[in-house]
Amino acid sequence: MLNTQLLGGDGMHNFKKKYGQNFLRDESVLTRIIEEASIEEDSLIIEIGPGDGALTDKLKDVSKNVISYEIDNELIDGLNNRFKNTNVEIILDDFLDRNIKEDINKYNYKNLYVIANIPYYITTPIVEHIINSKINPKKILLMVQKEVADRFSAVPGEKDYSSITVYLNYYYTIKKLFNVSRHSFYPEPNVDSAIICFESKERIPIDDEDKFFKFVRDSFRFKRKTIKNNLSNYDLKIVEKVLKKHDMDLTVRAEKISLEIFAEIYNEIK
Ligand code: SAM
Repeated sequence: MLNTQLLGGDGMHNFKKKYGQNFLRDESVLTRIIEEASIEEDSLIIEIGPGDGALTDKLKDVSKNVISYEIDNELIDGLNNRFKNTNVEIILDDFLDRNIKEDINKYNYKNLYVIANIPYYITTPIVEHIINSKINPKKILLMVQKEVADRFSAVPGEKDYSSITVYLNYYYTIKKLFNVSRHSFYPEPNVDSAIICFESKERIPIDDEDKFFKFVRDSFRFKRKTIKNNLSNYDLKIVEKVLKKHDMDLTVRAEKISLEIFAEIYNEIK
């Protein structure tokens, strides 16, 4: 059921496109996000962009504490009223500028989660900020644009498989959970959405992650070109030797190569 009532403040809000403000108004989607997250006891949840607090309200009921970052100061009074004397801390700031590690330092918790209907214009910077802050959440559940969910969760051989897929899959097991129609939001965006889940996993040993990711980006540099062309600055004899072990040769394109094989090649040529 779609709930179009706006909660918090005086009930009126001037929606800002520049902040990606499309508020979730579908109770069944909110409930499903909470079910799929299966949040364990004693958890701290980080939310990016509470809006008027529809998702925040559900998160607070299933966790020990919630920290929620909102950039729009016009939403703050409403949020502070709504979550006064609760387990929710509202921080008025740009999430990308925060030292998240410091923000969560004062909390005691067993498990850390990030759960949010994020502003789509900064999807990749948000995920990179979480990874770079080294807070290692057990699980990240994000509402993202459907095409982005497909790119993040693609497997080798699929058209959406790219260097960002390899980068993210190095840190997380990524699954698209379900699609969300544009009609579930107010105002309605002109794209469809999906909920994507990142689950923390054991990493393949790599001595220098930055160099490894540069190597992966180089491999994908020209999408239509072969590995031989894209990696002409590397030792192609070694690249060929590893590819051969996996029944491939230098005419292969990067989109067919798995994270594990990229790591194996990198570890041999470094
Ligand atoms: N969570 C709410 C919901 O589901 O109804 C709102 C989601 S809306 C897609 C994104 C929210 O993120 C907006 O409230 C917007 O103001 C906020 N936002 C945008 N950029 C931000 C940033 N850099 N840091 C923190 N919040 C941001």
